[in-house]
Amino acid sequence: MLKRISLIMLSFGFYALSMAQSSLNPCGTFDHRSEWLQNFQRNKGLIDTRGGEKIYVPLSVFVVSKDDGSGEIDAAELVGSLCTLNEDFEDSNIEFYLQGGFKYLSQSEMYNHDNTTDAALQMFDLNVPNTINCYIVGTAAGNCGYNLPYAGVVLDINCTGSEDHTWAHEIGHNLSLPHPFLGWEGGYGYDGPSVESFSQPAPETVLYNYTLFKDSLLLDTLIIDTAYVEKVDGSNCEFAADGFCDTPPDYLAYRWSCNLSTGQSTGNMIDPNGESFKSDATLIMSYANDECAARFSPEQSEAMRANLLDIKSDYLSNQVPAASIEDFTVTYTYPVDGESVAFDYIDMSWEPVENATHYLVQIYLNEGLTSALWKDIVTDPMAIGEIPEIYAERDVYWTVSPFSNYEFCTSPDNPQKFYISNVSSTGEASIRNWNVVPSIVTRGNSIAIESEGNLNGADMVIRDMTGKILLSEKINNQVDIPATWSTGIYLVQIRSNESIHTQKIVVR
Ligand SMILES: [Zn+2]
Repeated sequence: MLKRISLIMLSFGFYALSMAQSSLNPCGTFDHRSEWLQNFQRNKGLIDTRGGEKIYVPLSVFVVSKDDGSGEIDAAELVGSLCTLNEDFEDSNIEFYLQGGFKYLSQSEMYNHDNTTDAALQMFDLNVPNTINCYIVGTAAGNCGYNLPYAGVVLDINCTGSEDHTWAHEIGHNLSLPHPFLGWEGGYGYDGPSVESFSQPAPETVLYNYTLFKDSLLLDTLIIDTAYVEKVDGSNCEFAADGFCDTPPDYLAYRWSCNLSTGQSTGNMIDPNGESFKSDATLIMSYANDECAARFSPEQSEAMRANLLDIKSDYLSNQVPAASIEDFTVTYTYPVDGESVAFDYIDMSWEPVENATHYLVQIYLNEGLTSALWKDIVTDPMAIGEIPEIYAERDVYWTVSPFSNYEFCTSPDNPQKFYISNVSSTGEASIRNWNVVPSIVTRGNSIAIESEGNLNGADMVIRDMTGKILLSEKINNQVDIPATWSTGIYLVQIRSNESIHTQKIVVR
C-alpha cells in the first residue's frame, strides 16, 4: 500500500507543471534520427558549418485566428516570443527574420485542429517555399507544438509566450534535432505509456514509432524503429538516442519539473549498466519545464548549422540583414497628454522610427504599464484603438514599441497619457436607463437594479477597478455582494440593446 502511495505522489510531482502548459503534451514531434543526421554524425567535420559566420534564416509566421478573426495570439506575446527565439539561437550564431512581415490567416479549421495530418494538408496549400513555415494556432492537436519535416512548425498560443521555449524546440526539430530521450516516447515499447518510475536499470534498447514524422506524408505505413538506450559512461553516445555525445542520457518523455539550482531533474534514472543519473534540464530539446530550458549543446548547434547549409541552402539566398534600429525615442503626435478621446475610436499617431518595420502599440490602465487594455501590431506609425466603455472617464496610458523584421526585442518607450471620455465616436454621450441601488453597499448585503425599461435577462458583470470580472450573471431581482470582497470601488456593467453602460458602486 505504501509503495502505491509513493508512486502516485511521484507521478504527481512529475505532472505538476507550469500552468499554461499543464494540459498539453509538451511536443507532438515523435522524431527520429534522420538519414541526414546519422550521416552528419558519422562524418563529423565533413560539412563545413562556417562556425564564425552568422546564418540568417527566413521565417513565414502565420498568425492564425478563427473564421471570424478572433482568438489570435496576444500581440505582445508574439513579439516577445520572437525575441526569445532569437536569444535561444544566439549561441548557435543563427538569426531568424520575418520574410514579408506577419501573415494573418482567419481559418477555424487550422486554428483548432486535432490531428496533424489535417493540418499538414492545409499547410501544403499555404506554405511559402524556402522559408521555415510557422503556424501559431489555438489548438495544435493537443500539443504545445510539433514539427512536420515535410510541412512546418505548429505552435499552440498557450505555449508561445515570451517566457516559453517551445518555438526554439520545434525549430530545433525542423533543423534535424531529435529529443535527447529519443526512443522513450512510447515507453519501453513503441505504443505503451511513458515510463514514470525508473527504479530498475533501463533495457539496452527501446522501440519507437515515428510514422507521422518521417520526411514525407505517406499514411499507410507504420514505422517502428529500435533506439539504443544511452549510457552514462558515454560508450554508446555516438549512436544511442539522439546520437550527440554532449547531450547526456535522458529518458524523460513527458513534461517534468526541474531543480532550478542544479539545472537537472529531481528524480534519478538508472542506465543499462546500473549507473544512476539525473537528466539535464537546460537543454531546449528536453521536456524539462521552460524555466530551466535555455540552451542547445555545441554539437546540436553544429548539426543545425550543417542542416541549413547542406540541405536548406535554398533558404539562405538573403544573408544581408536589414539596417538596425539604433537607440530610439518615440515622438508621439496624437493624442497629446490630457486630450479627451472617444473610448470607441482612439486615433493614435507618432513619428516613424528609423529602420522600424513594425510597432507594437498598447493602451494601459495604469502608469506602471502592467494591465494592457488593448494592443495591436501595425506597420505604419498610426493605429486606431477601441476599449470597453467601462474604462471611460479616466486617464489611460499608451506606448509604442518599434521593432523590425530582424529585431524583435523591444520595450515600451516613454509612456504618454490621455483621457478616455464616454462620448462615443458618433458624438453621442452614453446614457444609462438604469441605476444601482444602493450605490453604497455593505459587504454581505445585496444590490438591485432599478430600470425604466425591461432589463430582465440582460447580462450583468461586476468588475474591480483593474477590469477583472468578479461576478457575471443574468439580471435578477437582486444581487448579493459576497462578504469576502474587499472594500472599495467596483464597476457594475450591463449590456442591453447592444450598448454597454457602467455605474460605480462603493462596497464597504
Ligand atoms: Zn519535441
